[in-house]
Amino acid sequence: MALTLKEKKPGQRACDEKDAKGKLCVGHLKRWYYPDDADVAKELGPGAEIYRCERCHVLYRPAGADISTAGQRFHPQPVNILGDTVRTK
Ligand SMILES: [Zn+2]
Repeated sequence: MALTLKEKKPGQRACDEKDAKGKLCVGHLKRWYYPDDADVAKELGPGAEIYRCERCHVLYRPAGADISTAGQRFHPQPVNILGDTVRTK
C-alpha cells in the first residue's frame, strides 16, 4: 500500500479529504504516534510529527510554516549609530 501523506495547512484541525461523492471528510486530525516499524517510520524516520484523521485515517504532516522558525532564534543586540554591535565593557 502506498503511503499517502497530505500537508496540513497551518492551524488546520479538520480533514479536507474528499470521498467518492466529493464530500469533505471533516474528520478530526489528531497527533499520531506510530510504531517504529510502521511504513511511516521507514519513510520519515521514527518519532516524526504526524497527524492522522480519525475518520478516514489519512496521514498529514505539519505544514512547512509550522516548523520553519525552528533554529532561527533571533537575539536582538544593542547597536550604535554606525550599526556596529555595542560591546559592554
Ligand atoms: Zn478524513
